[in-house]
Amino acid sequence: MAAAKKTIALIAHDKKKAEMVTFAKRHEGALSAFTIVATGTTGGLLAEACPSLTIRPVKSGPLGGDQQIGAMIAEGKVHTMIFFMDPLSPMPHDVDVKALTRLGAVYDIPMALNKATAEVILKAITADAAAAEKA
Ligand code: PGA
Repeated sequence: MAAAKKTIALIAHDKKKAEMVTFAKRHEGALSAFTIVATGTTGGLLAEACPSLTIRPVKSGPLGGDQQIGAMIAEGKVHTMIFFMDPLSPMPHDVDVKALTRLGAVYDIPMALNKATAEVILKAITADAAAAEKA
């Protein structure tokens, strides 16, 4: 029996959204093996750019979406997080961002905070998913 799809959270700050869309389009095939959860605005852009992906949106990050994804990590419902952070802009929801990445560390999930790491992680979890599919 095929294993249940693992869930990846995709989040991008405003100045990183174009980079996230490009990343997701390039890896649409690989991402389609996962359930995707995304913060509101990021999720809307991804749904438009990558019609083959099933994206479960939560609220926009500044309106609680980061906290919703954090709660899902704590519940074991998000297995990997790809979060293109903007390290150069002040954020009204800075504390939420910190809480979210803290939970990623607490629950020891693969967590990419930039594109270079996202490429490495996606390759690794795609190989894992393919092996689980065969088992
Ligand atoms: P957004 O949230 O995708 O709704 O813009 C991202 C964030 O700023 O945390």
